[in-house]
Amino acid sequence: MTVQFTLSASAYRCDPCTRRQGTVVSELVRMIKAPALLNGELVGDEHWGCPICLEPKFPVKKPRKPRSK
Ligand SMILES: [Zn+2]
Repeated sequence: MTVQFTLSASAYRCDPCTRRQGTVVSELVRMIKAPALLNGELVGDEHWGCPICLEPKFPVKKPRKPRSK
């Protein structure tokens, strides 16, 4: 029995912006959509998003913070 893994790798780009700008928009910036301040600390879901259309593209995977003792 063979198990086949399909690995798909492709360059990311923001299609709407690439079309609009005429140049490939492949940048991503880390952003928080609708952040809140909790006791002065920023809380919210972090995303990787397009810096031009500000569309969140991928959720930022956060490693669980080890509890500081
Ligand atoms: Zn975009």
